[in-house]
Formats: sequence, structure tokens, C-alpha cells
Amino acid sequence: MRIGIPKEIKNHEYRVGLTPASVAELVAAGHEAVVETKAGDGIDFSDQDYIDAGARIVATPAEVFAQSDMIVKVKEPQPGEIALLEPRHILFTYLHLAADKPQAEGLMKSGATCLAYETVTSSNRGLPLLKPMSEVAGRMSVQVGAHYLEKEQGGRGVLLGGVPGVAPARVAILGGGVAGVNAAQMAVGMRADVTIYDINNERLAELDMFFSSQIKTAYASKAAIAEAVRKAHLVIGAVLVPGAAAPKLVTRDMLKTMKRGSVMVDIAIDQGGCFESSHATTHDDPVFVEEGVIHYCVANMPGAVARTSAFALNNATLPFALKIANLGAEAAMAADPHLAAGLNISAGKIRHAAVAEALNLPL
Ligand code: NAD
Repeated sequence: MRIGIPKEIKNHEYRVGLTPASVAELVAAGHEAVVETKAGDGIDFSDQDYIDAGARIVATPAEVFAQSDMIVKVKEPQPGEIALLEPRHILFTYLHLAADKPQAEGLMKSGATCLAYETVTSSNRGLPLLKPMSEVAGRMSVQVGAHYLEKEQGGRGVLLGGVPGVAPARVAILGGGVAGVNAAQMAVGMRADVTIYDINNERLAELDMFFSSQIKTAYASKAAIAEAVRKAHLVIGAVLVPGAAAPKLVTRDMLKTMKRGSVMVDIAIDQGGCFESSHATTHDDPVFVEEGVIHYCVANMPGAVARTSAFALNNATLPFALKIANLGAEAAMAADPHLAAGLNISAGKIRHAAVAEALNLPL
């Protein structure tokens, strides 16, 4: 199969659909790769790296699309890219169609077979192509939290791990899923005093086993969260209710009890945020202050560590891309129901029940 990798064109997107190492794997399996010039420039993958991996470099996105059967990207296609899609194309990328009717209509019109990373499933009912980005955001949340706790950043002037003779900072993590666990791992590594709050008792038991005495766990009742917020130096919001807006776990009244210069990192901001006082921010202007508390609410945290994120995403997507390339989309989906769950649109029709329902369009 001929596989095309255009340069991402969304603002501040430096990741790339396939790394040179992934291209080399596809080429070794007998496929061709067509890469737009400078596609990996932002994260230091040069055209020569792609040539060494066996790819052909072309000058424009139009050439990438014209010379490929499958397009592998990161972000949802922009209008100029949708215009280049034809019925013969397979598109494999994040789509997030549920809140984007114009994109869905454009993809339906193109006739292409569109598989969305975010709806591919795994045998343990997880979302394996979303997981790496939650891992990145979870780990990053502690890094940014520690940064904004510094006095020069407007923070309380507290070192996360304390020092001998001085107590460490208290970190409350709301939601003990993928992002929450990764946040906890970083906070524990920095010797903070960490508590994870969740409403899933089985999950709390797993976390208790996994971290042993390194963390505390607590059921996420309103009272427990109110107390946590009052005492914490850093609160990390990492809850997810699949398919729904994030529940507002921290109210403004709770926020008012928090120490001045404390930090809140709302990872769940891409689902509306789990603090009442949150609103989405960008890497250009990542924080704002409410009730004396610094809020970091960047909806695309992995973009800040685009090189790590590109490798992490490729680790998860490459096996599926290889399967599609080896078998073709139809046979690959027939062979793997988890990949089939990624099908959102083909031949002008919505093929994913939740997407159809969200967009109020027929299946
Ligand atoms: P996950 O499903 O692995 O974990 C979510 C956890 O939240 C679960 O353990 C669940 O039991 C818990 N939960 C649900 N409702 C709760 C409540 N009321 N109180 C306490 N806990 C509750 O999800 P994840 O992969 O860790 O993702 C977490 C969030 O991070 C999602 O909103 C996701 O979209 C977001 N995310 C954001 C970024 C970013 O850049 N901002 C990047 C990746 C993921």
C-alpha cells in the first residue's frame, strides 16, 4: 500500500502521523511511504531521516494525497485536506467528530474510509490510541504543577517534595484512571504527599495494591473533595465519564477555601473541565488566577512535548497502520473488531453509532 504522511497544519501542532522509525517498519513490510517535505521539522525529524527510512519526499499536501492510498495524520483533517480526499482513500487519524458536524459532512462528501484513533478499542474495554496522550498529560500535569507552585510564577513558593525537616506538598488527584495514575507516579517520584480520589472502589483497591504505602486513596465524595481542596497545594483533575462532559467536582465555594498561590491543573478540560472555575487555555497563555489559585487548563497538553508524544502515539498506532496496510481496510477490520470500532465514516455514511447519535445523523 502507498502511505501518505502530510505535514500537520493545525496551529501549534508539531507531531507527525508517522515517525521515521514507523516508516521504516512499513517499508520493510513491503509498503511505500510518501512524506511531505518538512513534515517532521518541528520535532527534529529531517527529510533525510525519512529518506533513510525508505520514504519519498514530495513538496505539497496535494502530492501526498494524490500519490497515497492511506493517509496517516495526527489531528483531524482541515478543510483544505478534506478537499483532497477521494473515495479510494483510507484516513487514519484523530477525528473527534461528535462535536464537529462540518468536518463529518466534509468527510461524508469525500467518500473516503475514515478511521478515528479515539474510537479504536482494546480487549480490556480501553481506548488504546487515546491512552498514550493521557499518559503524557498525566505525567506533565505534575511537572507544570511544580513549576507554577514556584514563587516567580505567582505560586505559593512550595517545593513539591519538601526537604529534610520540611513537609512535602500535598497533591490531590481527582480520578485514578490512566492520566491520574501517571500523575501519581510523577508526584510520588518527586516525593510529594499524594492522595488519589475516585468513585470506582475496584479502581481504588487496584491503586492501593499498585502503589502500596506510597499514596493514599479516598472515595471521591463531595465532603472528601472539599477537604482535599482546602488542604492541597496542587489539585489535578483527571476524571472521565466516557461520552459525557466532565462532572464539576470542585465548586467555586470549595476553591475559595484553598490556599493562595496553590495550583489546579485541569487535565479534563478537553471534556469541559472538572473544576467550576476552569476555562480552556492554550500553550501561548496557559494559566489564569481565580480566587488566588493558579489554574492551568490547556486542552492539548501533549502538544508541549510533541516529540515524546509523537513517539508515544506511533507506538500505539503503528500496529494498526501495519494491519491496514497489509490487509486493506475492509479485511483488516473484519479480522480485528477493535480496529473496526475505529470506523467512523465510509462511502458517504456515518458508521459509528455514538458519532451518529451525537451528530443527529443516520447510521
Ligand atoms: P480514564 O477513563 O482512564 O480515567 C478516568 C477516571 O475518572 C476513572 O478511574 C473513573 O472512575 C474516574 N471518575 C469518573 N467520575 C468520577 C468522579 N465523579 N469522581 C472521581 N473520579 C471519577 O480517563 P483518562 O484517560 O485518565 O482521561 C482523563 C481525562 O484526561 C479525560 O477527560 C481525557 O479526555 C483527558 N485528557 C486531556 C488531555 C489534555 O491535554 N488536557 C490529554 C489526554 C487526556
